[in-house]
Amino acid sequence: MVATGLTRRIDKLGRIMIPIAIRNEYGIGEKDAVEIYTRDKFLVIKKYALPDGEIKSRYSTDNVGRIVLPKSIREDFAFVDGVDYVEFFTEQDSILLRKYEKECVICGKTEGLVLVKGKKICADCIQEIKQLSGN
Ligand SMILES: [Zn+2]
Repeated sequence: MVATGLTRRIDKLGRIMIPIAIRNEYGIGEKDAVEIYTRDKFLVIKKYALPDGEIKSRYSTDNVGRIVLPKSIREDFAFVDGVDYVEFFTEQDSILLRKYEKECVICGKTEGLVLVKGKKICADCIQEIKQLSGN
């Protein structure tokens, strides 16, 4: 899995803009059908394979490359519309999205963050946890 370093905010209508660089890489154009499903902490988007040219996917990009994230998935991931950001990763034929934490999940600090099991924690909080655990 490759981190793209790209993040986008979920808009107030639960839509996410797939960055143009990623859409180009995966050949996803306007109103293309996509599959959306979840895998662990990730939401997976794939261009919908068309076995016989017929489109049956429930999801598609709009004319500016946005997709509506299904409400059930937004709820499962505790995404807050208009507030939360997602981070984009790529892997073979899949685009993966994960909730993006801009700050330490414990104290809210935005500097010196370290990724621990997918959560951002600052060096001060890590030090404090170490002391609490007696190390
Ligand atoms: Zn902290």
